[in-house]
Amino acid sequence: MRTALYPGSFDPVTNGHLDIIARASQLFDRLFVGVYANPRKDIVFSLEDRVRMLTTAVERWPNVEVKSFANLTVECAREIGAQALVRGLRAVTDFEYEFQLAAMYQQLRPELEVVCLMTSVKYSFLSASLVKEVAKLGGNVDAFVPAVVAARLREIQTA
Ligand code: ADP
Repeated sequence: MRTALYPGSFDPVTNGHLDIIARASQLFDRLFVGVYANPRKDIVFSLEDRVRMLTTAVERWPNVEVKSFANLTVECAREIGAQALVRGLRAVTDFEYEFQLAAMYQQLRPELEVVCLMTSVKYSFLSASLVKEVAKLGGNVDAFVPAVVAARLREIQTA
């Protein structure tokens, strides 16, 4: 059984994340999408909200499961029996951070393989922070996020 963990803050999940999830779900028998409980970044959505939106968005893939975690990523991977971590790469700018992260994971747990999938070109510009900014200023983000997220962003806009 090949199992992988795709960790991130998913604040909120975008179509770029879903593209990585769709492709990783083909490569592995089971894919867990791990939502960091305590990300370093300024977070807009609560953990419950982030998990709920992701769970709705991944319903169509039977081998994908959403899980929140507050411990080390490598520990979460161990708990679920994952042999690999999945990350997405958009641009050269992502590379440096992902490279540093992968090197740290390697030190902490050498047997865990880090698999980086290149973004599909149409999502290469897409980031959760940009989506939040556009939504905050009243822009339409329907093309960038799943319906459940677009609806939640509209709620926040009008709140
Ligand atoms: P983190 O807080 O770890 O940066 P994110 O939720 O922002 O987590 O993203 C999780 C992963 O998804 C990261 O590997 C990130 O590079 C990747 N990712 C984010 N947006 C895209 C996108 N549009 N295309 C491909 N990968 C993406």
